[in-house]
Amino acid sequence: MTARPRPHLPMRPAWLCRNCAAPWPCGPAQLALVAEFYGHSIALAFYLAASMQEAIDDVYGLGLRPDLSAMHGRFLGWLSLARRPRRR
Ligand SMILES: [Zn+2]
Repeated sequence: MTARPRPHLPMRPAWLCRNCAAPWPCGPAQLALVAEFYGHSIALAFYLAASMQEAIDDVYGLGLRPDLSAMHGRFLGWLSLARRPRRR
C-alpha cells in the first residue's frame, strides 16, 4: 500500500502549486493532467486555456500586468509534448 500523494493543485491567486510551490502546472501536475485527460487532449487544452484565463484575471486582480506570452507558454506550451502519441 502506498500513501495517497498530496495533489499538485494550484493555489490562487498566485497559481503556485499547493504541494511543491512551483508555478502551476508544475511537472507533477502536468503528468497528472495528461493521465486524467488521457485520450481527451482537446478537453485538456480547453481546461488549460480556461485555467490560463483565470490566472490572467487573477494577475489583473492583484493590480499587476501579466506576461501573456509567458502565461501561454506556461499553461499551454508544454501540451504538444503530451499530445505526441507514445508508440514503440
Ligand atoms: Zn507541484
